[in-house]
Amino acid sequence: MNRRTIVAANWKMNGDLALVEKMSASLNQVQLDDNVDVVVCPSFPYLSAMANKLTHKNILLGAQNVSEQISGAFTGEISMTMLKEFSVNYVIVGHSERRNLYKESSVLIARKVKTVLNAGLTPILCIGESAEERTAEHTEVVLAAQLQPVIDEIGIEKFSEIVIAYEPVWAIGTGKTASPEMAQATHHFIRQFLASNNAEIAHKVPLLYGGSVNAGNCETLFAQTDIDGGLLGGASLKVEEFTQICSTTKGSI
Ligand code: PEP
Repeated sequence: MNRRTIVAANWKMNGDLALVEKMSASLNQVQLDDNVDVVVCPSFPYLSAMANKLTHKNILLGAQNVSEQISGAFTGEISMTMLKEFSVNYVIVGHSERRNLYKESSVLIARKVKTVLNAGLTPILCIGESAEERTAEHTEVVLAAQLQPVIDEIGIEKFSEIVIAYEPVWAIGTGKTASPEMAQATHHFIRQFLASNNAEIAHKVPLLYGGSVNAGNCETLFAQTDIDGGLLGGASLKVEEFTQICSTTKGSI
């Protein structure tokens, strides 16, 4: 079975209704390769408008975060039940900005992954090392420490229902993309780490690369054996560039 290729857009705290309008109009016209899905993750207030505008069957909606709680006195939080009312299919969990700026631990992130799965949606679990950790050659230890709590929380079998985005923190929003060789080597490590728990499941998990992906570098990055698409920040806000990336991305045969 081939893994689907996914191009996911993380708008972060950017965009407005005008961008929702322009991006959806452009994406609705795009010719996608077989086996390619596009996931657009605008900020919460724009989910409804985006859900109403997207008409392409392989262009889906994602949220950027969710509460690990089901409901109750959690001011400012958004629940899975709420997201489901807006036709959300995917939820980004554990983005490095959530881990670093909002101090979300790998244990909390694992609970969020479980909450998303329990609601029947697909988590996009983000993992990645900092520049210091890469320089100290701790990348593999860091990634394993980010993955293990999720394995402990949901069990390895459930990984067949999740997507993992490897995003080296030093490459996010910096213009410093990992080389295709470096990205492939790290993706290979992630797949091997999952395979040491369950080889069959490891083969099924789409692994996305994130970190300064653009129209100029996406083709070579996405062509790597263990890279099944990307999670894009900056480039996902540019209508023409993002549409071009989606239309040129090849699905696995
Ligand atoms: C991201 O925020 O997930 C990301 C990959 O951003 P950028 O593409 O801008 O590096």
